[in-house]
This record gives sequence, structure tokens and C-alpha cells, in this order.
Amino acid sequence: MSKKLTSRSEDYSKWYNEIVMKADLAENSGVRGMMVIKPYGYAIWEKMQSILDKMFKDTGHENAYFPLLIPKSYFSKEASHVDGFAKECAVVTHYRLKNDENGKGIVVDETAKLEEELIIRPTSETIIWDSYRKWIQSYRDLPLLINQWANVLRWEMRTRLFLRTAEFLWQEGHTAHATKGEAIIEAEKMQGVYATFAEKFMAMPVIKGTKSVNERFAGALETYTIEALMQDGKALQAGTSHFLGQNFAKAFDVKFTSKEGDLDYVWATSWGVSTRLMGALIMTHSDDHGLVLPPELAPIQVVIVPIYKSEEELTAVSAMAHEIMDELKNKDISVKFDDRTTQKPGWKFAEYELKGVPLRIVIGPRDLEKGTVELARRDNLTKTIIEKHTITETIIRTLDEIQESLFDKAHQFRNDHITEVNSFEEFKTVLEEKGGFLSAHWDGSAETEETIKNLTKATIRCIPLDTPSEEGICVFSGKRSKGRVLFAKAY
Ligand code: AMP
Repeated sequence: MSKKLTSRSEDYSKWYNEIVMKADLAENSGVRGMMVIKPYGYAIWEKMQSILDKMFKDTGHENAYFPLLIPKSYFSKEASHVDGFAKECAVVTHYRLKNDENGKGIVVDETAKLEEELIIRPTSETIIWDSYRKWIQSYRDLPLLINQWANVLRWEMRTRLFLRTAEFLWQEGHTAHATKGEAIIEAEKMQGVYATFAEKFMAMPVIKGTKSVNERFAGALETYTIEALMQDGKALQAGTSHFLGQNFAKAFDVKFTSKEGDLDYVWATSWGVSTRLMGALIMTHSDDHGLVLPPELAPIQVVIVPIYKSEEELTAVSAMAHEIMDELKNKDISVKFDDRTTQKPGWKFAEYELKGVPLRIVIGPRDLEKGTVELARRDNLTKTIIEKHTITETIIRTLDEIQESLFDKAHQFRNDHITEVNSFEEFKTVLEEKGGFLSAHWDGSAETEETIKNLTKATIRCIPLDTPSEEGICVFSGKRSKGRVLFAKAY
């Protein structure tokens, strides 16, 4: 397979698919909308998982696991929840296959029909709240702070590798609280955890906000979101945290006795991020040469490529490479020495460039004489010669610099793509010509939001948390507006 990619300016969506395939992250499977995550892609996901898992545990949460299949009757207990997800649900109706009468194939055994149909979980609120009824009796059982790592299934019609797949991997937090206030604090706290993860580890700036009623999670009273901007000017919802009020407690009859002896329904939150974050990571930093990974999430942070002509030269260069490797491993830096004799150095350079390895060390016979190595940065494609005895400190410093510079670059791009617009003409022009977020006054009505969406494909990404309320005139209807919101075309 050729390593050359279609450029972003030529065809952004083709560029994205090619990176995913050529960097060996994932591929399409025999089932429409479902992907195979390959080892290199999975290694990045595992890094994300382990960092997030620690952040959840540090904020008091524990992991548990609930079933993949949900009885249809549970699913339909919360009316707005079932309305929101019904169109995307796959249903299990039978539990056995049999050979057909001609002996030529396999068919569903109609005699093995389930008494109650089962839904493959699109999200687990209903099955989890059915357990919470048994787990929660008194205020002493609260708060209950649970997370689950799982796969879910939503029968999406328009899918795209990582960004929107029918089956996806995610974590879903489900918490129960004694008071409304505590539940809201929890939902906001987890939005904060997601924002910190995105910015500190993914080097991806995000805007924190709440969703409009139209865009809210089915069954939530408030949805908190983190929104990122991709290089093609489209927004991406990177994580959500929901305040669910007492909706699920009422649907599943989960009551607790308070300190004062009163009986009340429990307050709930749920929150999740998915393998969509992989797509976000790729689209935020990568370039026309391939993937660019922030060091914090790179499965290989440093690759060493030897240059040699003879067997003796390889032996000598390898000795130096192993010395460097040991030193770096001691500092918890993940390093790979690619001494395969089956591939030329040039091929290896292109391969690691494509795979986004942040730093490459090249060692040749001349370096042995001089006590130097060549260090190449993936993010800005610069090369420097460094003294061997300074390697470890230079690498530690450079990895930090790369992490910071990737964030700064993405931040600059994001900020350059937030445009205040004050008329609908301006709205349409900026959306078409520049893209990005449009900061515009909106009258707060679902009708206006829907009309703007139908006319322009832009949706309200969020009502940002940190913008001061400023009264104005709705960009579409001319009615009174309580403040600006962010519109964008989104993935
Ligand atoms: P939700 O439960 O709808 O709030 O979604 C939780 C998280 O999963 C959000 O970060 C979504 O952006 C993400 N997500 C939703 N649908 C998909 C999908 N089809 N593929 C990948 N990620 C998704």
C-alpha cells in the first residue's frame, strides 16, 4: 500500500479515511457501520482508557459491569428515553438457529422465540437503574458512583470510522445522589474531568457548555458537553455529561430514606466518552504526511532507526541504540528500536511519520565516531543533531514541548475560527466561507433552531458556560435573545 496520502485540501474526508487505514488504526468490517480496531489503534484507545479510568477513580468512582441485553419492558419505562433511542435499537428475538430443510443453510429456529424481546444496549440507564432499586434504600447508600467500560450499539445510518459507528466502545458513568444540588455538581464535575482529559492529554482545546433542549440526551434535564473543532472547520461533540433529575428513579421506583426519615426519589447523572475521541485526536493534529500524536497518548513515543552498511556497523549501532533505550525506559518513555533488516531506513522513516511517532532517533556509523545522534520531531518535521550524553534530558524536554505546541496550535486554530455574527446573511457567509463556530444571538426557541438547521445544516453546539450574558437580537427571528450561543456544522 502506498504511504502517500490524499491531502486535506484536496479531499478532507478521504484524507481522514486514508490515515485511519494506512496508520493501521482501524478498518471496515463485514458488518456495515462496524469497524475492526487494529492493534496500533487499540493501543491508543487503551492509553486513553487507563488515564480516564484513573481520573474517574481519583474522583471517587468504582467500575462495575451490567448486561449487554436489556428487556424491552425496562427500556420502555422512561418515555422520553425510549422515544430518543427507539429508531436506533437492534432487537434480539430468537435464541437458536437450525439447518434449513434442504440442508443448505442456516435459518432462525422459529420455535425458539424469546418470550420477551431483548434490546442490545444503546446506553445502560434502564438496566442499571433496575439494579439501583435493589442497591439503594437509605441516605447511607448514597452517593452511588459507578462507571462501566462497555460496548454499545446504536443503529446509525451514516457512519464514519471512529467518529460515528454502529457499535462503539465507551465508558458510561451512572451516579445516584440524595439531592438535586449534589447531582448537578457531579454532572458538572465530570464535564470538567472530560475537558481536562481532552486538553491535557489529547492536546485538544474544548469549549464547555450546555446543550439546547433539541440536542439534549433523551431523558435528561440538562446535558453538559465539551465541543472541539476539527481542521475542516466542523465541530465535534467530544463528551457529554447529563443531569437526569429524578426521571429514572421514578421510572424504576428507586427511593431512599433521608436522614430525617422522609422517603424521596434519588437524583441521577450519567456521562460518557467513546471511541469517537480517537477520531477527534486524528482530526485535531494530523497533517498530509499522516498521523500526529501528542506524546501523552502515543503508544511509541520514540523510535530508533539504525543506518548501516555492514553487519559490523549494525552491531556497533545496535549497542548504542540499546544503551539509549535502557536510559529512556528508565524514565518511563516508550521506545522502539526498529532493527528490521527487511526494510530500508527511508521506508521506516515514512512508516513512523505515517503512524505519528513523536520523535525519531537516527544512529549511523558517523554518529558513533562523533558521539551524536539525529533527532527528528514529527509535529514540525525539524531535525537536530544532539550529543549522546544529553539525549535523555533533550527527549524529555522535547516531548513536553511537542505536547504543549500541539495544544497551542490547535488552540490558535480554534480561536481563529470563532466568529461573532450579527445578521443571518453574515451567518450564512461565514459558515460557507470560513466554517468553525459562529457566535450568534438566538431567541431560545426550538423552532428557530430547527429552521436554522434546515436552512444551513448548522446546529447549536452549545450554550457556552463562560460567556457573560449579553442581551441582543436573534440572528434569525429578530426576537429578543438572552445571550450568544455557538452554532456550527458538526460531525
Ligand atoms: P450520549 O450517550 O449520546 O450522550 O453519548 C455519549 C458519548 O458517546 C458522546 O461523547 C458521544 O459523542 C459519543 N457517541 C454517541 N454516538 C456515537 C457513535 N455512534 N459513535 C461513536 N461515539 C458516539
